[in-house]
Amino acid sequence: MLPARLEDLPTPSLVLDLDRVERNCAAMAERAERHGVSLRPHLKTAKSADLARLATRGQPGGLTVSTLAEIEYFAARGFTDLTYAVGIAPHKIDALADLQRRHPGLRVTLLADSAEALGQVALRAQSLGARFAWLLEIDCGGGRGGVSPEDAELVALVRSVEASPALDFAGVLTHAGHSYHVVGRDAHAALAEAERTAAVRASTRLREAGLPVAVVSVGSTPTAVHARQLPGVTEMRPGVYTLFDLDQVALGVCDVADIAASVLATVIGHNPRSRRVLVDAGALALSKDLSAGEFGAGYGYGLVCPIDGGPPMEGLRVADVHQEHGLLAASDDSDEAAAAMFTALPIGARVRLLPNHACMTVAPYDRYHLVRGGGTRVEGQWDKATGWNAGVGGAR
Ligand code: PLP
Repeated sequence: MLPARLEDLPTPSLVLDLDRVERNCAAMAERAERHGVSLRPHLKTAKSADLARLATRGQPGGLTVSTLAEIEYFAARGFTDLTYAVGIAPHKIDALADLQRRHPGLRVTLLADSAEALGQVALRAQSLGARFAWLLEIDCGGGRGGVSPEDAELVALVRSVEASPALDFAGVLTHAGHSYHVVGRDAHAALAEAERTAAVRASTRLREAGLPVAVVSVGSTPTAVHARQLPGVTEMRPGVYTLFDLDQVALGVCDVADIAASVLATVIGHNPRSRRVLVDAGALALSKDLSAGEFGAGYGYGLVCPIDGGPPMEGLRVADVHQEHGLLAASDDSDEAAAAMFTALPIGARVRLLPNHACMTVAPYDRYHLVRGGGTRVEGQWDKATGWNAGVGGAR
């Protein structure tokens, strides 16, 4: 029997506000439709099949993923079109071939940006009798993976595995990770345009060389939310928007009221000397991500909401985290403010903590506890993927 109320759940637990998830997913689907592109949501954030079904409503149904464990999890739940959007390591081909064998109909699309990796991948896949589509990663300015759209070797790189019976070139992919270091609609719109032009420029050069480019894939949450136009693009791949978080609030991408995932925690102590309230959700339950702090948002490791998911409690933040302890503080770090905090949050009280970076916070949990809107009634649970290799090649 499921506990019927948040008051009865063990803590820390992960809580998901279904009303907010539904709103977030519908709004992104509308953006994709307005731009005439399909939505291939990145499920590295939520890692949940139920959420993936919501996020792909009215869409072709393809997902973006970032681990073999996610591939195993989503394939086992009927998703067949998965783009594995992390540069492929040749040794993973054995596990991927095994996944495709065990899940008939599964098509995993790989990502690569070097002839060296591609050569090894092609040989390994061929020796296993496996076949994969692959995308060329383009660097649109983030400086992570990918080749420049102007790279002299761009065409040669794709041609280097053209003859392989194991690899089918599908197109280009880019991700504006640097959209996380600028604030506001105009700055994100400019990076959305940089993301678009990089992908389109690469696709044009490849097509001019006679190579077919079916997929032109872009996307981060800030650029997907604020893009003004996407001609030449076929799909976008945001992920954080499904849950949103305080970093997205600080970036000017969403409001606090859009944040769908929170960590349910219990007050376990008061320390009048340090003027801190202690809760049983620390670095492992929340993560040590301080991303919103880049813009001086003053959110610490998270904001503190009442158990019914109402707005954050005025002036309170998670000021510090230890492995299993979170330390709440008032922004006015006085004895009077601490006394008021102790009164508002007696020992045993429950709070919901909003995360800085949803992907980091939800990753270790194995399930979501579902609520709707205000209130503490638990409507159900959704399972989710965890880890890197769970279920892959017999690994746990
Ligand atoms: N695509 C790729 C390749 C990514 O690495 C990411 C995120 O890291 C995304 C899409 C999703 O972007 P966001 O996390 O901003 O939603």
